[in-house]
Amino acid sequence: MTDDVPAQITLFPPSSDIETSYWGSLAPTLWHAGLIWRDYEQVAFNLNPVELRIWCTFTDREAFNAWRQHELVAKRCPEILASKIEVIETTTPWARHDERCTCEESSAFGLNGHGFGNRKSVLYCCDCLGYFPNHRILELIGNIYGQLQSWALISGHVYDIWMLTADLENWALNELRSPTSELNSSGREFTRLVRERTGKQVWYCLFVQSDARTNLCPACNRQCTPAKWSHKRFVCHNCNLVY
Ligand SMILES: [Zn+2]
Ligand SMILES: [Zn+2]
Repeated sequence: MTDDVPAQITLFPPSSDIETSYWGSLAPTLWHAGLIWRDYEQVAFNLNPVELRIWCTFTDREAFNAWRQHELVAKRCPEILASKIEVIETTTPWARHDERCTCEESSAFGLNGHGFGNRKSVLYCCDCLGYFPNHRILELIGNIYGQLQSWALISGHVYDIWMLTADLENWALNELRSPTSELNSSGREFTRLVRERTGKQVWYCLFVQSDARTNLCPACNRQCTPAKWSHKRFVCHNCNLVY
């Protein structure tokens, strides 16, 4: 059993044209509420009756068990909640499944955008290295949650541009590794805001190509110490960076 829960949700809309109806809104609403990870698929099958299947991964068992009661879901999808819904747990052998943070009180967090194999949480616990489910992050940081998720999505797109395009490869690489790029400046600002909201130390995870990694901070050039949770990475206490 994994801490996050891959699932298939089946709805039974009257037609397979879900683009123009509210039937397609359940999956994005679950994402906005922090109940599922970013990667989901929904496909309407012209069966008799029509089936709309959503494949998604709930961020933890709590989200899987209680999504119907979430206030955003209740507000945006009342017709769907009143209709027939089938939910089954599935397995996704291709997906990474991490452990959820189990600490009573984390002493520090690491802030991570999407990309580099991560399209799941944006906040990880530095004590147990477990992830925070998105609905918990929403509770922790309040109204900056939406902006933080938008930033995380953009960072994932920049990562894809670096990997998948030739024309914009250099631009994307610079956005990912420069401590003062627009992407990293926003990310570091979010680190500051999350620190302010939680009262905890929050580290910003900056991408450094491994052959360029030294104990000199890429932002302020001061000498840094190895991170206690990773023998390859360094931390800069001056810049609140992990790299
Ligand atoms: Zn923890
Ligand atoms: Zn520094």
